[in-house]
Formats: sequence, structure tokens, C-alpha cells
Amino acid sequence: MENTLLKLFKKRRIRRIALLFIISFAILSVSPSLVGSGGVLNRYLGYRGDGSIKGFRDRSALSSRMGDRVGASAAEDGAKEPAEPKKPLVLIDPGHGGRDFGTCYGGLWEKEVVLQIALMTGELLEEAGVDVVYTRTEDREVELRSRPELANSIGADLLLSIHVNALEDMPRYKGTETLYANPGQNENKRVSSRMFAQIVQREVVNALGTDDNGVKNRSNLAVLRLAQMPAVIVELGYITNSSDRSKLAQPEYREKTAKALCKAVQDTLALIYPE
Ligand SMILES: [Zn+2]
Repeated sequence: MENTLLKLFKKRRIRRIALLFIISFAILSVSPSLVGSGGVLNRYLGYRGDGSIKGFRDRSALSSRMGDRVGASAAEDGAKEPAEPKKPLVLIDPGHGGRDFGTCYGGLWEKEVVLQIALMTGELLEEAGVDVVYTRTEDREVELRSRPELANSIGADLLLSIHVNALEDMPRYKGTETLYANPGQNENKRVSSRMFAQIVQREVVNALGTDDNGVKNRSNLAVLRLAQMPAVIVELGYITNSSDRSKLAQPEYREKTAKALCKAVQDTLALIYPE
């Protein structure tokens, strides 16, 4: 009798263990796809000024691009939501970051100067009703190719990359220059990268009173070459020149620069989206 009871107990325990196995297996078989899709999604997320993470603006573009379960569920969500009016979207790219400090001279670090100006520019743009995504909002390393890739994946209207220049052997050399890539895949129907560069160049030179070194075609630069929208790199000034450096060091000039960049972006967006 004792034996039969023991056997029955053992059988029930085995059944319970088997059931637990089945449940665990079911959970495990679902979770890898969740983990996987989260990983894919994270690759394409940018950062807003307040440090929060921003997802895709155009969810249908995401689903067609990725064609996985993230896209499918996003498209379903999208169908339920009422259509929001589309705001223009700009990717702001503060150059360098983390171990890559860019250029450094006279106590100024490029990665710090451009980050502060980038954040101020983005804030002004958001106040003006423009959606802004950043490649970084803090001092961290960002891979070069991922910068234009992020702009492409979110469907940005413009890519603005902010840098400062240096020429240690020629401390007298100074001024602002704006770089663009030759017409290629990154042309908007209404605005070319060259036009965007000319507008940025004009505004920054006016605001800072720097020498006007003009716009330059630099199709070899990955950030410009890989962008699928009008894209520029603005080199605000030469950190190795005392006059440019003193401007880049002053908070009031950084603010002026941000206002100039904001105006340049707004003027360019006005050409893309005429009333
Ligand atoms: Zn740089």
C-alpha cells in the first residue's frame, strides 16, 4: 500500500515537472524573437535633447524596410492611431565623442564645443516645431557610418553635422567652411546639399563674423556620401586660430552659432516644404 501511494505521488510529481518543462519551453521559444526584434529596433533609435530615446517617425517606412515582426506590429499600431500632421525632421550630428575627441587646442575640445552647440540648436528647432534626433546627446563614441545610417532610417529631411577645424602649422588660418557631397542619392527634389551648405555657410558667417571660406565639395566623406537627404558638415571655425578660438570659447558666441544654425535649417526646410 505504501508502495502504491509512493508510486502515485512520484507519477504526479513527474507530471508536474513535465508540465513545468512544457511551460518553460513555450516561454523560451517566444522570448528570443522579442529579444531579437528589440535589438534590431535599438539600432535605429536616435536620441532627443532630453536624453529620451526617439523611435521612427514613419512607421510604415520602418515596416517595409525591416519586414519583421517589429514592423508588422508597428504597422498595426499605426493603423489604430489617428494620422498626426507630419513635422519636418532633422538629424543633428555633433561630431566625434567619447575617445574620439576630434581636435583639441588651447583648452578647447572639439567634441565638447560641438555637442553644446548641437544641443542648443536642436532645442531652438524643437521650439520652432521641428522634430530633432541626435546621433549623440552626451560624450560617447558614435561610429562614423551609423551617423548617416541613422538619418536614413528615420527618414530625416536634413542632416546637419557640426565640427570645428584645426591647422596647427598655420595658426593664422581661420574662418568658416561648409562641406557637402556632389549631387548623388542625397538630393531632395527642391533642395540640393550644395544649397543647404550655402545657406548654413551664409548664416554662420553672418552671426559669428568669421572669414567666409565658402562651401566645399567633399564627396569622399562618409557622413555626406551615405546620407539620402541634403547633408552638410559645418566647420564653424579654426580652433588653432586665436580669433576663431576665442569666439568658440564664449557662451554668447555659441548661442549665436546655434541661432544661426537653427535659422539655416528653418530656411532650408521652408524650401523643402513651401506653404
Ligand atoms: Zn571634427
